[in-house]
Amino acid sequence: MENKLSLEEIVSFCKRRGFIFQSSEIYGGLQGVYDYGPLGTELKNNLRAAWWRAMVYERDDIEGLDTTILTHPLTLRHSGHEDTFCDQMVDCCDCKARMRADGLAGGKCEKCGSAKLTAPRPFNLMFKTNFGPVDDGSSYAYLRPETAQGIFVNFKNIMDATSKKLPFGVAQTGKAFRNEVTPKNFLFRVREFEQMELEFFVEPGTDDQWHQKWVQERFDWWIKQGLAPENLKLQKQTAGELAHYSKATTDILFKFPHGFEELEGIANRTDFDLGSHTKTQDEQKFTARVNPNKDSNAQLAVQGAKDNRPIVPFVIEPSAGLDRGVLAVLTQAYTKEVLEKGQERIVLKLKPHLAPVKAAVAPLARNNEKITAKAKQVKQALLGLGIGRIKYEDTGNIGKAYRRNDEIGTPLCLTVDFDTLEDPKETITVRHRDSMKQERVAIADLGNFVKNYFSS
Ligand code: ATP
Repeated sequence: MENKLSLEEIVSFCKRRGFIFQSSEIYGGLQGVYDYGPLGTELKNNLRAAWWRAMVYERDDIEGLDTTILTHPLTLRHSGHEDTFCDQMVDCCDCKARMRADGLAGGKCEKCGSAKLTAPRPFNLMFKTNFGPVDDGSSYAYLRPETAQGIFVNFKNIMDATSKKLPFGVAQTGKAFRNEVTPKNFLFRVREFEQMELEFFVEPGTDDQWHQKWVQERFDWWIKQGLAPENLKLQKQTAGELAHYSKATTDILFKFPHGFEELEGIANRTDFDLGSHTKTQDEQKFTARVNPNKDSNAQLAVQGAKDNRPIVPFVIEPSAGLDRGVLAVLTQAYTKEVLEKGQERIVLKLKPHLAPVKAAVAPLARNNEKITAKAKQVKQALLGLGIGRIKYEDTGNIGKAYRRNDEIGTPLCLTVDFDTLEDPKETITVRHRDSMKQERVAIADLGNFVKNYFSS
């Protein structure tokens, strides 16, 4: 499907339907941060849950973790972030706007078009905050710029607690913060966002192979979330683009409304991080450690399979942005259709497992107590399946309820009507979002019907 949706349209749709709002909007908005509304929260939770299921529940070689946002300064010193986690920034000498130096069209100011720009200079992207009651700058912590470091500094704890053998991974989802010079393109480049990161530890020498494998796994996973293969692309980063810790990185790009851009990066971080957080011992040589480490009290290593000498595993890291993921699945799903009578229908063709509301249950007559009681009973029964949010639609107008639910991506609408009461089988109408086809299903069969629908 050719995707001609503009970013403005998706932004206004997200506000109108309660998916995403500008943060602190009533005070003029805080630039580069967004709040998730009632439906956006469900969608984001569902995408995160799908990732967690694929990473942690469906495999036995990955464990989950949940570490803090506030991060010890030494963690981010030895990880290299204090020194190198920077973007090149320029100022416009005419309008004083500040922007990222890379990607400027024709080397001109993106606000006023002036060619008078300062020379690029590095700008560290980390947020620093006071830590504890004394506000004299001596006691501080960082808000983590990536969730990964929480995994690396807990490596020994995880090994001690789980006795994992290589290869194995640790998965984490959570907030990350970057003081982006120019936040833009809605959820795409923001200052507070969520990441879904896996650190997969492997024997050195097997890393290239595992890297390839994870690129393919992650590409396939995004397709399972409904992204069309023609809207996805793999792109290897050039030597100049690689982060300080990476030997090789392949990005998965998605065709966002503003163009093909990174949705997820899969990096070969080598032994850089575990090596950097390991107390320096003369005989230990790691691939690319930045700072000799006298601060750590740990050796982050495992026993080698061949002899008992400790080896520092290499790490393959698939790192995805949850907010970019939400924007991608929304963009892909948002569809405008012209119906027979010329009316327009907006339908959000989300994969059922991502839909904010799984099913809407409506009584055809909201003043008929028998019908409303039956509809409420159906809602309770479906809720018991544990598939997610089931909504009781207290509406008198079924046509409007269908359209509203199409627009927010509800895959099934179930209507209890007068026939339900009379029919010995107690059938109700099940209406499908994408085809708009309707069928009658007996209430007694509904549990199986819905379960099959959501597992197929
Ligand atoms: P970019 O080149 O777009 O700045 P990056 O290469 O710095 O991204 P990584 O450090 O690889 O990004 O982070 C992993 C993932 O986190 C990215 O693929 C992206 O999905 C997400 N991410 C990174 N920065 C942001 C941001 N400012 N806003 C939203 N998501 C982000």
